[in-house]
Amino acid sequence: MHEYSLIKEIVDTVLEKAKEYNAKNVIKVEIDVGELKFLTDEQAQYLFRELSKGTILENTKLEINYVSSEIYCRKCGYKGKAEHLEEVDPHFPIIKCPKCGNEFVEIIRGNECIIKSIQVEK
Ligand SMILES: [Zn+2]
Repeated sequence: MHEYSLIKEIVDTVLEKAKEYNAKNVIKVEIDVGELKFLTDEQAQYLFRELSKGTILENTKLEINYVSSEIYCRKCGYKGKAEHLEEVDPHFPIIKCPKCGNEFVEIIRGNECIIKSIQVEK
């Protein structure tokens, strides 16, 4: 499950950083998630809670900033928001050019998942 591994990686990284800074508690974690990751806030919050059980992240607030997508289509030169079809497989939607329908587009933005800030208590 791709959502699981995404959040697992975030939890592991934050725990590692918290240890590095000798943090007693982590107050808030802010992440940037591209819309092409198809991670809903509900899913992310649930997985974060589950995966941080028994750690110092148990009461940490998870804040998600969604990054809108930007693609480039070599076929027609379109640059902008991607079109995505989720009916085939909701976990691996088809990302298309909304102008010409090309499915082999270059993703400029919208596929990231990065930790933006970690607020700790020492
Ligand atoms: Zn196109």
